[in-house]
Amino acid sequence: MSQLVIRGLRAAVGSRVILNGIDLEIGSGEVHAVMGPNGAGKSTLSHVLMGRPGYEVLGGTATLDGADLLALAPWERAQAGLFLAMQYPTEVPGVSVVDTLRAAELATVGAGQAVPDGALEDRLAAEATRVGLDSALLERALNVDLSGGEKKRLETVQLTVLKPRFAILDELDSGLDVDALRAVARRVEDATNADGLGVLVITHYSRLLTELRPDRVHVLAQGRIVASGGPELADELEVSGYAGYAEAADGGGEGAGSGAGRPAVDPLADPFADPLA
Ligand code: ADP
Ligand code: MG
Repeated sequence: MSQLVIRGLRAAVGSRVILNGIDLEIGSGEVHAVMGPNGAGKSTLSHVLMGRPGYEVLGGTATLDGADLLALAPWERAQAGLFLAMQYPTEVPGVSVVDTLRAAELATVGAGQAVPDGALEDRLAAEATRVGLDSALLERALNVDLSGGEKKRLETVQLTVLKPRFAILDELDSGLDVDALRAVARRVEDATNADGLGVLVITHYSRLLTELRPDRVHVLAQGRIVASGGPELADELEVSGYAGYAEAADGGGEGAGSGAGRPAVDPLADPFADPLA
């Protein structure tokens, strides 16, 4: 049984505080959904947990089975068993999916973790089939010229081949049609049951959660968890929206300089960069 424990996490970008004290505790096999208005800090939470450069942790802790995640480099966090399916998967020209996953698996072995049986290519192809991804794309450069939906399916394939302990899924549903959404959500739900995968799923919509069934649903607004409940909370939000958390809809965070624009991020230097920003 593994535990991802986040306590009092506070983080800023530049002079602006985005996360104002996040508490979450996720065990193996559990699914926790984080929902909330645009700009609430959901992606910031995912980036801070994975170690994206440019975010300053002001306080609090994040541990995976007691290991201090915040003290580790992003790749060490991955070795420790954390996986992030990015809201905007990065295109990596010249590096194929197969090569990427082979390197990731070697690093996993290096960290003393078990690697599943069978050739990597076969496992990739099998997982691609399960989520309806054309396996020819596995030979191509990572995410290059893929549609939004194909990128999200490919994130799911990487997740299920690498078998991390915990996965953060940042809007895995965006860009997916209804059938793809169902396939991807079912695949992740299966991983929670078969492999004990723990999931932090960030989404705006409860439809993802009909297949990927959350144990807990949290509302993130203004950089804080302002409500938590069972799966019924997602259904309530679908009907009532985030009106009850209205001030947050104007943009999360508080503190000095909130009117300031984003600092420039070099997309080549920053593997987590949002190309639409
Ligand atoms: P969500 O994913 O909930 O929509 P984000 O975490 O992406 O929200 O963003 C939360 C707030 O932080 C937004 O107001 C956003 O503009 C701001 N923000 C996020 N990343 C940066 C950054 N790199 N520089 C400046 N502001 C940022
Ligand atoms: Mg986001």
